[in-house]
Amino acid sequence: MGVIRRTGSFVLKVNPILCDGFGHCHELAPELVDIDEWGYPIIKKDPTPFGNVRALQSARYAVRGCPRQALSIERVGDQP
Ligand code: SF4
Repeated sequence: MGVIRRTGSFVLKVNPILCDGFGHCHELAPELVDIDEWGYPIIKKDPTPFGNVRALQSARYAVRGCPRQALSIERVGDQP
C-alpha cells in the first residue's frame, strides 16, 4: 500500500462486472455512494479532494470492505 498525497482529488470507481449489488459500500461510505433500487452502487461523480480526510477514510473503508474487490480509489485532475 502506497502513501497517498493530500493534494489533488479522487473518485471511487466500481467494476460493474465484479459488483454483486448488495450495497455494502453504501453503508461504509454513504457520502460517496448511493444505491439504486436494486442495491447497486451509484458512485458520486464529482471528485473529492484528498484533503477531505473523512471522505478519504470512508473511501478506503469501502474499498477494503467490498467483498468482491470491485472498488478502487482513482486519482483525478492531476497537473502535469
Ligand atoms: S460493496 Fe462492492 S460488491 Fe457490494 S455493492 Fe459495493 S461495489 Fe458492489
